[in-house]
Parts: sequence; C-alpha cells; structure tokens
Amino acid sequence: MEIFDSLVESEHEQVAFWSDKVARLRSIIAIHDTTLGPAIGGVRMFPYKSEDEALKDVLLLSKSMTYKAAAAGINLGGGQGVIIGDPNKDKNELTLRSFGRFVESLNGRYITAEDVGTTVEDMEIVKYETKWVTGLSKALGGGGDPGPVTAIGIVHGLLACVEKVFGKKSLDGVSVVIQGLGNVGFNLAELLFKEKCKLFVADIDPQKTLEVKERFDAQIIAPEKIYDVEADVFSPNALGGIISDRTIDRLKVKIVAGAANNQLEDDRHGDILHAKKILYAPDFVIGAGGLINVVNELQGYHRDRAEKQAKGIYDLLSKVLDRSEKENIPTYKAANLLAEERINQVKKFKQRHE
Ligand code: NAD
Repeated sequence: MEIFDSLVESEHEQVAFWSDKVARLRSIIAIHDTTLGPAIGGVRMFPYKSEDEALKDVLLLSKSMTYKAAAAGINLGGGQGVIIGDPNKDKNELTLRSFGRFVESLNGRYITAEDVGTTVEDMEIVKYETKWVTGLSKALGGGGDPGPVTAIGIVHGLLACVEKVFGKKSLDGVSVVIQGLGNVGFNLAELLFKEKCKLFVADIDPQKTLEVKERFDAQIIAPEKIYDVEADVFSPNALGGIISDRTIDRLKVKIVAGAANNQLEDDRHGDILHAKKILYAPDFVIGAGGLINVVNELQGYHRDRAEKQAKGIYDLLSKVLDRSEKENIPTYKAANLLAEERINQVKKFKQRHE
C-alpha cells in the first residue's frame, strides 16, 4: 500500500506506528480528523494476515469514528488503534502496557477504548500507562461494557426504521435476524425479546446461540445461512463488510439495522440497497450508543444520562431517514452529508476565529 497516497485520499491527519520488541507489540493508531476535538476510538486486537490488512482496517475504522462522533453531536474527532495479534494467545500485561505508552506518546490527540479483541479489564491495564483511556470498569469510574448501551441505541434506531417502513410505533411482532451474539448482539436479543419480536440468531459460537434460544425463544440459524432468512429486519452485530456482492442478493428483509462497523463492503452496496428499497440504517448512526457510553465517562459517568442519550438515536436516525426520503438519496449518503456538514461548519468557524 502506498501509505501517503491512501492518507491523502482518506483525509487522515496522522498515522503512527509502534513496535516494542520486549512487549512483542506491533500496533498502529490512526487519527482521522480532530476538527471537533481529540480523536476517540477503540483498539482492535486481531490476527491480521498482513500489515497492509491492519493498516486498511485502522484507516477505515478511524474514519468511521469521525462520522460517528459528528453525526451523534459529540465534540470529538475520529481515531482508532489496532494491535496485530491473536487476543487469545498474544495479549498480556506487557502488550497492553506498551499500547498504553503508545497512546500516552500522542499526548491526548487520541483517546482509546475497548473494541473487538479487547475488554474492559484490558483498558484498566492500559490505564497504568496513560490517562487517555475510556471504557473502564464501574469500580474505576467508568461505564463498564458499552454493549448494553449500544443495544439500547439499536432498539431505538430500529423503532425509527420500523416506523418509516411499516408505519408502526412499536416493535411488537417484528421479526429480526441477529448475526453475532457478543456484547451487543446478546443484549439486543434480550431487549427485542422483551419487545415481543420474533428472533432468528446465528453465531459461530454454538454456546451463545443455545443460550439465546433457551432464554429468548430464538430460532437458531447456521451462520452461512443467515442472509437467506425471510424476515423484517437483518441486524449485523459481528464483523464489518458483510453487505457485499456475495450477500446482497440473498437478503429477504426490508431493513438492515445493526451495530457492526463498516457493514457496507463498498458504498455502491448502499446504492444497491436503496434501489432494492431495503432501508439501511447507517451503522455509524445507529451504532453510536457505545461511543455515547464511553464519552459519558469523560464527563463523570452516569448510566441514566448515557441511556437517555442512546435513546436519542431514534431522533438522529429519523433525521437521516427523512433527508434520504426527501432528497431521494441512499441513507448512507444522507448520514455522510449530515456529518460532513457539521465538521465543515466547525472548520470554517475555527478558521474565522484563528
Ligand atoms: P463481540 O466480539 O463481543 O461479538 C461479536 C460476536 O460475533 C461474537 O459472539 C462472535 O462469535 C460472533 N461472530 C463472529 N463471526 C461471526 C459470523 N461469521 N457469523 C456469526 N457470528 C459471528 O463484539 P461486540 O462488542 O458485540 O461488537 C459487535 C460489532 O459491533 C463489532 O463490529 C463492533 O465493532 C461493533 N460495535 C460494537 C459496539 C460495542 O458497544 N461493543 C459499539 C458499536 C459498534
């Protein structure tokens, strides 16, 4: 990958690399845009097959954090960290402390949190070396696992989608296919069960599907069959890139709405969903609950306030869906425009006052 070319194309401000022989850590932090404030974003630990793959992921994820914060009205920019390695084998106190030193070296330009492959407990170790960390346990003044608050945001975003597509004010009787039953998907299944939704679920971990089947009366679907289920909603809550040429023609739903980051493999898949009249809830809008939760830690964590703000995703998403309808543009474009307009306005304001 030609690094500078891709940075210019994606408009990143900074990408930093960190190598620590003693701690056996190889990590990248990307800072996409700090117009609205310091860059915030999780750190993902994943056994990337190549440095190129890790770099592509960190560039994509940090950019979507800029849009997520801007769309949610948060005064922070977008960033992301990645650690190259298998969280089950390569993660220990030294790798996490070393990552903390990496974060500290950026002097507050990047604030980290947990993401796929890292946990609340890991962030407590990162905190030994830096104060620029969120996603901490309640004992340390944090909000704990952000998954439950993210799930609350998904439910309220889903209400906005269901209202737009079916003209219904409740989720009662709505059928939902959930892909991934981790921190977000499991909590989402519980909330949707309480709303009397009919659930279809898939996870590569059979223990998780079994638990959700027993507790929330869900029907188990094999992971590779999940795109073929006929239902009202497909909710992706595993990994990104799942709306692709391989899956898009298989979908038999009216709504795609879940927390997984970067669900569209390419923007054109958002155009195809629009043409097929499948309503796509842009992931960085509907999935903003986790960010809202960790940002609340920076102001002194109050669970009630975080939940109330996550419920506000209903209004944020309604605004996006209304604009998409009014201008007849795909929902992802409407969401991008709202985020970009806010950033550009603040940029101009700052330039005027410099
Ligand atoms: P997680 O790691 O806790 O859960 C992911 C789940 O997906 C796991 O149970 C895993 O077994 C399952 N999975 C993996 N591949 C699968 C496949 N092919 N088919 C079915 N299941 C599969 O992660 P999470 O915290 O629940 O986050 C899920 C997604 O939502 C991620 O993309 C994350 O970046 C995004 N997200 C999370 C939050 C949050 O608060 N945790 C907030 C916003 C966005």
